Amino acid sequence: MRLTVEGLRAGYGAVEALHGVDLRVEPGEIVALLGANGAGKTTTLRAISGLLRPTAGAIRLGGEPLAGVPAHAIVARGVVQVPEGRRLFATLTVRENLGLGAFARRDAAGVEASRAFVHRLFPVLAARERQLAGTLSGGEQQMLAVGRALMADPKVLLLDEPSLGLAPILVRTILAAIREVNAAGVSVLLVEQNARAALRLAHRAYVLVTGTVALEGPAKELLEDPGVKRAYLGS
Ligand code: ATP
Repeated sequence: MRLTVEGLRAGYGAVEALHGVDLRVEPGEIVALLGANGAGKTTTLRAISGLLRPTAGAIRLGGEPLAGVPAHAIVARGVVQVPEGRRLFATLTVRENLGLGAFARRDAAGVEASRAFVHRLFPVLAARERQLAGTLSGGEQQMLAVGRALMADPKVLLLDEPSLGLAPILVRTILAAIREVNAAGVSVLLVEQNARAALRLAHRAYVLVTGTVALEGPAKELLEDPGVKRAYLGS
C-alpha cells in the first residue's frame, strides 16, 4: 500500500519543526530520508506513526487518512516504527519483547510465522530467546527492535537510525536484514545517518533541510549528485 505525506507540518509547542513535508513510499520501495541533525527526520517518522500530532497536512496509507488516528491503530493498519534508541523492555526476555510486537494481532498462526521469519533473519534472537533484553549487546538489541516491529506484520516499516552506534560488521548485518525484509514485500522508510549506505540500499531518497524537502530522486542519482556528495557523503 502506498504511504503518502502531503504538506505535513508538525512541531513541539510553539516551535514548528516541519514546514510542509511532501513524500511518498510506493509499495515495495525502500525510501531513504536524509538530512543533517535537526532537519526533522525523526519528527517526520513520529508524525507518520501517530506519536506526534501534525498541525497540518495529510498522511495516507492506501488512500486512507492516518493523521489523527491513534498510534496503536496505525500499527494495526500496518505502519510500524522502529524508534531510535531501541526502546526495548530490558527486564523482559527476547521472546516476550517479540511477543509484545504482536500485541494487536489475533492470527496466532500468522504471529508464529512472523516469529519464524524474525528467527531466520536474526538467528541470534532464536538462540537467546530466554535471555533478558537488557543483557543483549547493542547490535542484538537493534536486531530485537527490528524483530519486534516485524512481529506486528508491517506493510510499511519506519526505521530511525537503525545502525546508530553499531560496529561496521553489525551495520552490514542490519542493512542486509532490511534488504531481506523489503524482498519479503515490506516497504521501508529509512532514516539513516550513514547516507552512503542508505543510498546504496534505497530505491529513492529525500533530503530534508530545516523541515522541508530540499531534494528528492532515485537513490543512484543522489549518490552522484555533487551537492549531496559534498554535504552528506564526505567526498
Ligand atoms: P537528529 O538526526 O538529530 O535526530 P532529525 O533530523 O531527526 O535530527 P528532529 O529530531 O526531527 O531532527 O528535530 C527537528 C527539530 O525539532 C529540531 O530543531 C529539534 O531541535 C526540534 N525538536 C526535536 N525534538 C524536540 C522536542 N522533544 N522538543 C522540542 N524540540 C524538539
